[in-house]
Amino acid sequence: MRAAGLVVWQAHQAAARILKPGVSTEQLNQAYRDTFTRCDATPLFLNYGGPPGFPAETCISINDEIVHGIPGSRLVEEGDLVSLDTGCRLNGWCGDAAVTHAVGSISVSHQKLLDVTLGALNLAIELMATCSRWSQVAKEMEHLVKSAGFFVVEEMVGHGIGQNLHEPPQVPNYLSEALQGSEDFDLRPGVVLAIEPMVNLGTNAVVCLDDDWTLVTDDGKASAHFEHTIAITGEGPLRLTGPPSEEELRELPDWLQDREQWVIW
Ligand code: MG
Repeated sequence: MRAAGLVVWQAHQAAARILKPGVSTEQLNQAYRDTFTRCDATPLFLNYGGPPGFPAETCISINDEIVHGIPGSRLVEEGDLVSLDTGCRLNGWCGDAAVTHAVGSISVSHQKLLDVTLGALNLAIELMATCSRWSQVAKEMEHLVKSAGFFVVEEMVGHGIGQNLHEPPQVPNYLSEALQGSEDFDLRPGVVLAIEPMVNLGTNAVVCLDDDWTLVTDDGKASAHFEHTIAITGEGPLRLTGPPSEEELRELPDWLQDREQWVIW
């Protein structure tokens, strides 16, 4: 799963390098497609849910779009929040990760939204080292987001991941009724989860657009999304979609050798 996760990481780096005002979302998607082709990995989002299914390798969701935005001719603008979510399968195993980028300068409230959403992901990963049940982690994620005055998206949740992109259990980013009942689960070595808080600035009401994919905020205000695929090991949580070790880096192409240029989350 680490091999698949490292391809996902590389694809996100490729897209981050071309992300600037004027680039189209289709061009960003092409960066993902090219990376998967180069690495002989199978994109998992293309045709997902089909036929016909999702029409691209990556979900690209801008500003009030929460998740599942479809790449196309839309051009990225200064001040946009661009969420990029992708996954692939390599040698039978899957990886899934998402990041929200600020394009140029953004407002204080948008920066806080990014910080809190990423903070919720990092808090979850940290707590997975010590908590025995997911409900304990979800409760703390929800508390962090609400304390900041923001809203956890409840319609979409994280998930187990392994040989398939979406496996049980469901992994809510808040203390859902299900988590207080029979759908809570143990955090123990061997468990692998895609953890993906989605946080809205002004509401937790969401709407699906006529394309039947794009989920947007009901109030038109911004949303953010960060995700990593995390394995619980005997030594603690491991970011399977995180940056390369020294040893792994030696196998990666030249353009990735400069750490200063990495986008880390
Ligand atoms: Mg996911």
